[in-house]
Amino acid sequence: MRDGKLFLVWLAGLSFWAPLACNDELSTETKSVALTFDEQGLADSLVKEGMGRGQAYSLLSDLLEKAPTRLSGSQGYEDAVHWGVATLRQLGFENVRKEAVMVPRWQRGPAERAVWTSGQGNRERLAAAALGGSIGTPANGLIAKVVLVQGMAELAEMEADRIEGKVVFLNQGMDPTLSNTFQAYGRAVGQRSRGAIEASRKGAVAVVIRSMSTAADDEPHTGAMRYAEDVPPIPAFALGIQSADRLEAELRAGVGGTLELFAQCRTLSDIEQWNVVGELPGSEHPDEIVILSGHLDCWDLGHGAHDDAGGCIHALEAARLLKAVGHRPKRTIRVVLYANEENGRRGGDAYAEDHRNVSHHFAFESDSGAFAPRGIALNLNQSSVVALRRFGRPFEAFGAGGVFQGGGGVDIAPLRDQGVPVGSLRVNDARYFDVHHSRNDTIEAVHPRELQLGAVLLAYWCAIVDDLSASRLQPPD
Ligand SMILES: [Zn+2]
Repeated sequence: MRDGKLFLVWLAGLSFWAPLACNDELSTETKSVALTFDEQGLADSLVKEGMGRGQAYSLLSDLLEKAPTRLSGSQGYEDAVHWGVATLRQLGFENVRKEAVMVPRWQRGPAERAVWTSGQGNRERLAAAALGGSIGTPANGLIAKVVLVQGMAELAEMEADRIEGKVVFLNQGMDPTLSNTFQAYGRAVGQRSRGAIEASRKGAVAVVIRSMSTAADDEPHTGAMRYAEDVPPIPAFALGIQSADRLEAELRAGVGGTLELFAQCRTLSDIEQWNVVGELPGSEHPDEIVILSGHLDCWDLGHGAHDDAGGCIHALEAARLLKAVGHRPKRTIRVVLYANEENGRRGGDAYAEDHRNVSHHFAFESDSGAFAPRGIALNLNQSSVVALRRFGRPFEAFGAGGVFQGGGGVDIAPLRDQGVPVGSLRVNDARYFDVHHSRNDTIEAVHPRELQLGAVLLAYWCAIVDDLSASRLQPPD
């Protein structure tokens, strides 16, 4: 008993003295950040309301039912805009509107075909999809020999005479030894975005790539690619992982053969579509804006349930929850559902340009999938992030208490470049690239609890950044 009391005295002394003993800048700052509300109380209310009777999954189901396909320029995207406007109004948002933006219009056309015929005469159909933005093949398709290339670095080194007249097979996979799948994607995705340019420069007639995928299946994953003015455009395809494995094995075995490719994609003229915007007006500084956002468009394979319907729902549901629990934001919370993230970023660019003179206090975008959140990522300087770390505690028991430096999103990058602090949810990324830009990205791949927890966490952090002064939210130097 006595020893126990002494221990408590010692402990109290330690906790009292420890911050003074370690008298550096960070700990002083950590002590002094305070909110005008009780963060644990808000977290409890958001969990009760959100996890108890949240609407994230029903909103997601509704969007995917009304507008399952939302490629830029399509009728499906317009359906999504109608859904966004109607839903924001129905949920009680104010100043609900569409903001016009010109977007590109690419169409896939009828199903693509990729058939490998080995030197021994065996024919095998490969799982293939044209990359977004690709031109089609000639009307009857094309047939050519294939050269195996392990990625863009190897392509840069190769002599043109090994490539001329052939299909280049860019076979770099996502590096599984990296801790973050987004990093693995970033390192390999150059073969998708720039492969057709560099292969064409050396005389290739088409390019096929190993899909940017972590799945064990054979679904091809599409995604944006581009051409350059100074080289002829050539058709570009993604192969499913199993198809890529088989083609690689054939080529390594040296039996030779040809690949037949067929696609009838085309690009039409740009068309006017819209970002969708709705607001919860601020109670103290209504002219200052905190953005919650996602992108409403998606690739045409699958339904973009994770990419990025889930992110749009995170934004909508987070704002709805703040209202539902009676939290009154100081600043205006503006939900923005962006057009055309996938193949142009026209929505993000137009928003940043059109609202250049608006005071943006902070911008969140959720575009990393609706998987279990691990915490929040804030693109602030190190000392700001350290000072905010303690606010992660209420969500530690959910495995979502992390406060990371970094974060942001494609659509809010133009705002970041104007000096606006940005952030995003950090989710468990292990399975994101199983579904990304493929037919796998449907509602079946979204878990209701994981989706809802993301919205709850985003609401919580939205309330925190709204409450803090700009001096607490300094972007990295
Ligand atoms: Zn996305």
